[in-house]
Amino acid sequence: MRTEDVLSVSHSTPQFIAVLCRSRSISVALRTQRNWLNRQFVGLRQRLSDGDNVICAEGYMWELERRGYVKSGSFTPEVVLDHPERVTSLHKEFVHAGSDVVEAFTYYGHREKLRAVGRDNEMEQLNRTALSLARGVADKHDCLMAGGLSNTTIYDPDGGPANDQIRMVFREQVEWAVKAGADYIIGETFNDLGEAKLALEAIQKYGNGAPAVITLAAYFPDMTTDDVPIPQALRELEQLGADVVGLNCGRGPQTMLPLLREARKVCKGPVAALPVVFRTTPKEKTWQSLTDPMTGKHAFPLDMSPLQCSRTEIRSFAQEARDLGIQYIGLCCGNSSFYIREVAEVYGRRPPSCQYTPDIRHSMSCGEIDKMAPHVKKVNQYMHGLSLNK
Ligand SMILES: [Zn+2]
Repeated sequence: MRTEDVLSVSHSTPQFIAVLCRSRSISVALRTQRNWLNRQFVGLRQRLSDGDNVICAEGYMWELERRGYVKSGSFTPEVVLDHPERVTSLHKEFVHAGSDVVEAFTYYGHREKLRAVGRDNEMEQLNRTALSLARGVADKHDCLMAGGLSNTTIYDPDGGPANDQIRMVFREQVEWAVKAGADYIIGETFNDLGEAKLALEAIQKYGNGAPAVITLAAYFPDMTTDDVPIPQALRELEQLGADVVGLNCGRGPQTMLPLLREARKVCKGPVAALPVVFRTTPKEKTWQSLTDPMTGKHAFPLDMSPLQCSRTEIRSFAQEARDLGIQYIGLCCGNSSFYIREVAEVYGRRPPSCQYTPDIRHSMSCGEIDKMAPHVKKVNQYMHGLSLNK
């Protein structure tokens, strides 16, 4: 029995009990019980097939690095064990700002990456803790909780033994996600179609029917690094049974949008878009390639701040994505909660943080200068470099 079938059953008690009897998985039973208790809760597949949109905040690694809890370079998620309250707090911020999804912070939380920082013996504990933190926030706020698989950095397009290693990595992460009651599983930031397929295969094999969202990272060519045109790669993943396919990371809004238009043309089902929040251009298509406009120096990864998108740019991106029919929308590296609020508002939401949506009419420095009291007017003239005779 597939998870979503369980979720879509009418929750009248006899059917509910019958479902539980037929279900082999305690995790599914627990999840179903949660959904039964909260009749408003709708699973990912149902939301999307109803034509609803899903907002998913990503970018935990980058944001927690900026806050001083992740080391730039290795970018591994030990913060989950060392400062779990910081991870929970960021989950809550993103939900407050409009994210429908709490994604467990397991990015690079696999054996290969953790070995590099001497924490591989804590891998299971790290994954379980990350999933449990995400589940806790999701339950409290009626959000979807997603488990996460990511690019491993060891994929071998020639099918070497490293790929068996990847299969094992994905299998264990999927099994932990299922046990933690993940509502669906994200496989993200794959630059090789082959590795994305391994992730999808693991979700289908071990995910107990959990929906799969698979997103690729596009770099300069509109091709995967195993040389498949991106729209074709996405269509292939969709045909293999991914519930949502799309793009995350790699490119910012301006350079991701043209590729999204192509993807939208060939994909039949829901398409995902989660760009990095940086000003990539046709000349510098990826965030890794950006240069600081002031110094001309390569900016990635330490000096990216001057290249951050404005909130107005993110609002425009969200409007274009919405008009393009992007149903699964979010932001990746560079994301912060005020950006997610822009996306949420464009997608017609009123999350709690809208209480603090800007209203610059009340700003002493942005009002109509001729209506200001004489001294406030002078302060503004000094502030904005305006002529004092005006
Ligand atoms: Zn990213």
